[in-house]
Amino acid sequence: MAQLKDDCFAFGGELIPLDDALDDLQRRITCMVSVEQVATVDAVGRILAEDMRADRDVPPHDNSAVDGYAVYFDDLNRDHDSRLPVCARIAAGHPLDRPSTRGEAYRIFTGAPMPEGPDGGPDTIYMEEDCERDGDFVILPAGLKSGSNRRKRGEDVKTGDRVVGKGSRMRPQEVGMAASVGCATLPVFEKLKVAVFSTGDEICDPSAAAPTGSIYDSNRYSTQAQLRDLGCRVTDIGILPDDQKTITAALKSAALDHHLLITSGGVSAGEEDHVKAAVASLGAINLWRLAIKPGRPIALGQVGNAAFIGLPGNPVAAMVTFMTIARGVILMLSGGTEIVAQRYPVKIGFNHEKKLGRREWVRVRLKKEKNGDLVAHKPHSGGSGILTSMVDADGLVELTEETQSVAISDTVSFLPFSEVMR
Ligand code: AMP
Ligand code: MG
Repeated sequence: MAQLKDDCFAFGGELIPLDDALDDLQRRITCMVSVEQVATVDAVGRILAEDMRADRDVPPHDNSAVDGYAVYFDDLNRDHDSRLPVCARIAAGHPLDRPSTRGEAYRIFTGAPMPEGPDGGPDTIYMEEDCERDGDFVILPAGLKSGSNRRKRGEDVKTGDRVVGKGSRMRPQEVGMAASVGCATLPVFEKLKVAVFSTGDEICDPSAAAPTGSIYDSNRYSTQAQLRDLGCRVTDIGILPDDQKTITAALKSAALDHHLLITSGGVSAGEEDHVKAAVASLGAINLWRLAIKPGRPIALGQVGNAAFIGLPGNPVAAMVTFMTIARGVILMLSGGTEIVAQRYPVKIGFNHEKKLGRREWVRVRLKKEKNGDLVAHKPHSGGSGILTSMVDADGLVELTEETQSVAISDTVSFLPFSEVMR
């Protein structure tokens, strides 16, 4: 008697371990985009195309970290108060217009350059609240350490330092760093041009009335949102029917002016899955059938000069494989070097069994226990079509191929959505 399969993902063929697939991709994928110069303020989210080097020290001069009085430490009494004349006022942006003199104190403000003069100039700054003013004199208590409250030239960045590496994605702090070393424009990689399609006779755009038997397209929306978040230039191609000819023509045309084509649906092994055959007829499918759950049908390949990623149709699988596989590919194609998202250890709040030999991602929400521990809970047990399980989650627990089960309180690896979707 034929055995009934209760696992809708049951498949007899060889499955590729995820790490092997990712290693293979890393070896094969190269940056597809050229370089453009953009205003530094517009560089946020972009990938830097050259190492950023400082051609000046930051700060460019020793300066005061506080409002107070700058003095030569060696002019102070070690054991009791010192009384020094206040001989000049130095505000930020207004350096002292003469050399400093031993025995003098200077009223100085935060960010103002330290005066220069004999013996290296004043080296120590008293905070104003620690001093007592007496007419043109200031009384300085003993006990302050030499060099206090002085920021040294180059203590942040030295001339020639590499302050941001080629391939880094520019965050607000890198934008600020570029400005602080005097870069008004930056070389960044051009945005990857990505065409996005949905496939399926049942798929209908939310802008239209949905006929009986149809469902609204969610993948084209979530995928475009994920792509924009990665800084891609996205073209929405729309929804294609389950027809190999139409799919072939659309892929062929989009490959002419896009670096990457992303479809969803139609990549399984069913009679109505035509995407893989269309891609194969125009180029090649290089990777298909990974040992993962959800998202096993994900396919990667080539259409003409464009890269191709076929996401699974199920909305959760499409999003999860985008985060865990497509995202890294897109970053590599875009010239990025930081392609692996950080995972964090958390405790698990449920028991879970899985198949050996496949990587599995479980949608979870973190809750803080009374003792402060973060514990991953599973708000849903739904399958890879249940999009509410993504809405209710804040990340994925990642279980390795070698894991067969996890039990309450075990430490597991957690990938926050905030690491892969900002
Ligand atoms: P497929 O891989 O084409 O067999 O699709 C798997 C499942 O995902 C089916 O239940 C489809 O109806 C569903 N699906 C495919 N594409 C989309 C889409 N763009 N939005 C929402 N659900 C989809
Ligand atoms: Mg389909």
